Amino acid sequence: MINADETPDQGNLVFSMTTSGPEQTWRVGEALGKLLKPGDVICLYGDLGTGKTNLSYGISRGLDVQDRYVTSPTFMLVNEYQGRIPLYHIDLYRLKESAELESIGFEQYLDSDGATVIEWAERAEEALPAECLSIYLSYGDDDLREIGFYAEGDRYRALLEQFRIALP
Ligand code: ADP
Ligand code: MG
Repeated sequence: MINADETPDQGNLVFSMTTSGPEQTWRVGEALGKLLKPGDVICLYGDLGTGKTNLSYGISRGLDVQDRYVTSPTFMLVNEYQGRIPLYHIDLYRLKESAELESIGFEQYLDSDGATVIEWAERAEEALPAECLSIYLSYGDDDLREIGFYAEGDRYRALLEQFRIALP
């Protein structure tokens, strides 16, 4: 199901895998969600429809969030969920100007009591923390999606190592 392979990149852990349907992407997210700690920041990159929200849903399940995950908020930039720890799901697709980041208290989420997942993280480029786990999603044929992981910093390298061991 998942082919993981690792490429060394200047000491930052990098690897990628392919999923062949949304349920597999949920399971990948779930495995990651189980390992998250307060203050963790996950940055998601990839075109519309590559699976960022589905992956976020998997993460919410791994954090034991009970609500049915509401996909693609229509006007909110942030949704907060209560799980094992809080999950802050930020979707910057509709961000119009960076001043909006201040009005949602973006920086407070980055060092908080919960885990923060950011879709379209590139839209907050200047405001992102120096260290985070970056996940790049892209299309393959049909329902294939390539999911690449890039860890910066000790915490995220350790997280990614644990994640690889825990993969379904
Ligand atoms: P994004 O948030 O990146 O715009 P979504 O998660 O909202 O993307 O949507 C992904 C779409 O692609 C969904 O319709 C989902 O059913 C479909 N899909 C097909 N294959 C996969 C896969 N392997 N992983 C995730 N989603 C997939
Ligand atoms: Mg989305």
